[in-house]
Amino acid sequence: MLAEMAPDVDDAERVDQIRVLEELKAAAAAAQARASVDLDVSQRHAQAAAGVPAARRGIGVGAQVALARRESPHTGGRHLGLAKALVLEMPHTHAALTSGAISEWRATLLVRESACLTRADRATFDEQMAGDVATLTALGDRHLVAQAKKLAYALDPAQVVARARRAETERTVTVRPAPDTMTYLTALLPVAQGVAAYAALTRDADTRRSQGESRTRGQVMADTLVERLTGQAAAEKVPLEVGLIMTGPSLLADDDEPAHVPGYGPVPAGWARDLVRGRLDDDAGVWVRRLFHAPGAGELTQLDSRARLAPAGLARFVTARDRTCRTPWCDAPIRHQDHITPWADGGATTADNLQGLCEACNHSKQAPGWQSERRAGPDRRHTVATRTPTGHEYLSHAPPLVDPPPAAAAAPPPSSAPPTAPLRPIEVYPAVVNCAETLVETRFAAALAAA
Ligand SMILES: [Zn+2]
Repeated sequence: MLAEMAPDVDDAERVDQIRVLEELKAAAAAAQARASVDLDVSQRHAQAAAGVPAARRGIGVGAQVALARRESPHTGGRHLGLAKALVLEMPHTHAALTSGAISEWRATLLVRESACLTRADRATFDEQMAGDVATLTALGDRHLVAQAKKLAYALDPAQVVARARRAETERTVTVRPAPDTMTYLTALLPVAQGVAAYAALTRDADTRRSQGESRTRGQVMADTLVERLTGQAAAEKVPLEVGLIMTGPSLLADDDEPAHVPGYGPVPAGWARDLVRGRLDDDAGVWVRRLFHAPGAGELTQLDSRARLAPAGLARFVTARDRTCRTPWCDAPIRHQDHITPWADGGATTADNLQGLCEACNHSKQAPGWQSERRAGPDRRHTVATRTPTGHEYLSHAPPLVDPPPAAAAAPPPSSAPPTAPLRPIEVYPAVVNCAETLVETRFAAALAAA
């Protein structure tokens, strides 16, 4: 319907269309919030009937909201929390969103700034902030937040202080990709500890720089941080598992196929080659893993474990195959090897019956009404169908495998290889496998050709 909106209109009409569509988006967000809350209530009733203890009820509801919105379970949980605040505790804000007077983002700001208030104070906050729509719509984001903070503090200064104390329980360390094969390692710390940690790094860097250190202050701080956390003598010596996804030959030659580093994602082939070459003098060497399609029969070993827990080789295989949590749109790092057909129902501990899941998704799956099963996938890709308690089904395909190189993994590089000293794999393990895939682990080290 929207796609067919009349294109033959004048600019005044176009501006009106943009305004109307904005109001429609806000109204849709308000309706989504209402539907999410109703789903939560209904699912909790169903879980109670199924005997789920009160403390665990509500499990998996945020995950269902996420799947419906095609977002990560974490984001789905946030949306559900926002919906509950709006629908159950902030009727004026919810009404302003429904009428299109404020956007979903503005509503989020009001929910966020009133999060520390008691239910009664939040009702007052809601009425004062969103009761008068004309005043509300005239405010910019920054003024809205400033006014909201002032009001929250006036209503309950003690709660604002208590909120700071609660925030300390949320201290954590996270890592996320940054551009150009860098990462952000972020620590959320109580202010005194954060300041102390930063001061220790700057002090150390200033001392070294005064002794003639040529690296910049920032570089010394970053290197010191890594050295102290890992216990390594030098930052660049940290062992790295290039959980790649790259052949021996393509590691040696100028091949453009990207590699994959666990916990980071794809990296350019040239970067991976430089990294491997740079590590050749290390005792640790560099492990390169690669999944092949249908390798030669001689390399195959069926690994069928009788144990409930996947043995290390099998777990590495599943992690290399899946790369990130298999829940659609999740992308979180894999923490568990989950049995697709549960172990209790006779599911085997095989690559075929295992999927990599993050902690939250593994948890959601334990709620009543969730089911998963293996399906035939496109291009022989490992495919899992997950059914939620409402009967909705979502398919998850493992990333595509690559075709094996024409020769064995240890074949000499083609003549187009760069003239640098050739790498030579010193150990090759054709490892764990099912009938269509194999994981080959190759250890490269300082095994330069003598010639
Ligand atoms: Zn997940």
